[in-house]
Amino acid sequence: MTSHSHIAANLADVQARIAAQAKAWNRSPDDVHLVAVGKTHSAEAMEAALAAGHRLFGENRVQEAAAKFPALRARYPDLKLHLIGPLQTNKIRQAIETCDAIQTVDRDKLAQGIAAELAKSGRHIDLFIQVNSGEEEQKAGIHPRDADDFIRRCREEYKLPIVGLMCIPPADEHPAPHFALLGEIAKRHGLTQLSMGMSGDYELAIQMGATHVRVGTAIFGARETKA
Ligand SMILES: *Cc1c(COP(=O)(O)O)cnc(C)c1O
Repeated sequence: MTSHSHIAANLADVQARIAAQAKAWNRSPDDVHLVAVGKTHSAEAMEAALAAGHRLFGENRVQEAAAKFPALRARYPDLKLHLIGPLQTNKIRQAIETCDAIQTVDRDKLAQGIAAELAKSGRHIDLFIQVNSGEEEQKAGIHPRDADDFIRRCREEYKLPIVGLMCIPPADEHPAPHFALLGEIAKRHGLTQLSMGMSGDYELAIQMGATHVRVGTAIFGARETKA
């Protein structure tokens, strides 16, 4: 666990690296959003980041998001929370209530359920489609060969506010081809937001066009429990 004073310093370091990397590739630092991934870390750890001025967070489980963030949001109304982990259809309502974006839309049943719940709630949230770029069996996400049709159905049939794509490259492969593939699919569909890059590879992701990097360990320290 990282002490709370370290969190502010880690955050400043990651932000400086993001800014430097954006500049190196002629991108505006404002176009690269740092999603601070707080899974398994306490609300106090989130609070340390909030006190340092950070506002954008990611959680990979709805239940953990719902346990930690409503109280923080009451005190920091401008905080934004993205769901970055797999979503079960029975948790759609809670996800939409708790989060400002869902980055893991990856199948029709989920897309239809989100559409129905958005209509019912009147909430507006941003949606990303998760692409399983490495076609890993244990990993969520639409397979690249099915992505074009799925993106079209989400936008045209289900009328979902899809803003971009997200991927988690296989841990044992170089991420570059996966980042490139995500960018190619997004470009075909005129999608401008790319959520890719984690603690180990966010600088490369920025070089390759990431608009959202999801960084946990480099900010909050190593996770004690597996998320
Ligand atoms: C945990 C997690 C991250 C952050 O990973 P780190 O290596 O700790 O930066 C990013 N994306 C997703 C989907 C995650 O579940």
